[in-house]
Amino acid sequence: MNDLWRSVGALDGVEIYHPETFLTYEHESGTVPIYRDLERLRASWLELSPADADAIEEFIATIRQLGSFDDQLDKPVDMMSLIEKVRYFASMKDAGAVMKRYGKVGLEEYSQRFTHPAIREMFATFAPGDYSSAFLFFGLATFAKGQSSIPVGGSKALADRMAGRYRTLGGRVETGCEGEVGDVPRTVRFDCEPIEVAGSTVTQITLNHYGYEPGFAPAGCTALTVALNHFGEEVDRWFALAQDRTAYRREKERVGEAVRAAIEKQLPQMAGKLTVLDVATPTTYDRYCNAHRGAFMAFFPTRSSKMMAHTGRIKGLEDFVLSGQWLQPPGGLPIALITGKDTIQRLCKKLGRPFTAEIGQDAETPRRVA
Ligand SMILES: Cc1cc2nc3c(=O)[nH]c(=O)nc-3n(C[C@H](O)[C@H](O)[C@H](O)COP(=O)(O)OP(=O)(O)OC[C@H]3O[C@@H](n4cnc5c(N)ncnc54)[C@H](O)[C@@H]3O)c2cc1C
Repeated sequence: MNDLWRSVGALDGVEIYHPETFLTYEHESGTVPIYRDLERLRASWLELSPADADAIEEFIATIRQLGSFDDQLDKPVDMMSLIEKVRYFASMKDAGAVMKRYGKVGLEEYSQRFTHPAIREMFATFAPGDYSSAFLFFGLATFAKGQSSIPVGGSKALADRMAGRYRTLGGRVETGCEGEVGDVPRTVRFDCEPIEVAGSTVTQITLNHYGYEPGFAPAGCTALTVALNHFGEEVDRWFALAQDRTAYRREKERVGEAVRAAIEKQLPQMAGKLTVLDVATPTTYDRYCNAHRGAFMAFFPTRSSKMMAHTGRIKGLEDFVLSGQWLQPPGGLPIALITGKDTIQRLCKKLGRPFTAEIGQDAETPRRVA
């Protein structure tokens, strides 16, 4: 996957920030850090809950089992020869085994394998209980391998580098043609007093800080973001409320202030120092990014989900191949990138041209480790 990001210029000359934790969950019964370093994770979890040794070992072994899994294929499955398909399915052995063991185990059910309330709660509240626990392992395996790290400068700079690379290769980009954080971990989750948002009750805050990005805030300040994930009807409620601009603004202000108060209660060193800059809702991402229902991922797999892969071809549309995150679960940037590459491969095949991809000159990206 890393090679593919390099070949599209996403990582040209950019420093990579490697956070040491994926998330740190702070619960009244203890703190659960999800370290990138699995030995460190093992030591800290065993110290917190020796009684959960078996479940902790199994958790770590499953992440390790996915160590060699890479979701980037040389070519889409439907373009593979029989031998290539056999090799591909053989290489998926470990991923298949994890899917078999955990694909139909929901997060709530998985959390019951642990006895410590903080670890239990951390898993149970990762996403709604019916969502499959298998995908947590894939995400954490990628993180443990250092492949879910963060290019410094943010997503706009990343998109600009990709567009720059595309232009230097002769491509043309068209737009608008549609119809003091101190010791606080980079990502920390903690429980809060209930906050009513879009018809649901939020009882946890997930806070990110950007202390490693000096360009994101004026000197002496840091940008903080909080994610309150919304699903289904909660998203509908924001769209309905946005019809009444005054009520919508008032609601955003209320939520922003409630979240500020919750952060200040948990982290009193920040009291009086926080300013709410903005509250983005699903309608914000719809308006600014044209993201369908403001979604930040396409499909969040549940226990009853099936895997699917779309060829990008639409019956009746000639000379057209679709790319993007909605072609394959779970969506997100990697799927958008992979399906973009697949589209070019399909077009090359159709035009009888060879498909080539080169990694940028900048083979060694500087590493920045937290
Ligand atoms: C807040 C937020 C945070 C995110 N964080 C992450 C993250 O940490 N990691 C990650 O992997 N992913 C993340 N994502 C998801 C990631 O941004 C998307 O997966 C990715 O941008 C999808 O790329 P895409 O090309 O499929 O679609 P998009 O980037 O949505 O591009 C689709 C384009 O099509 C245009 N379009 C729509 N309809 C038409 C039409 N009818 N005609 C012409 N053009 C049209 C749109 O204007 C848009 O420019 C996040 C998304 C959001 C909103």
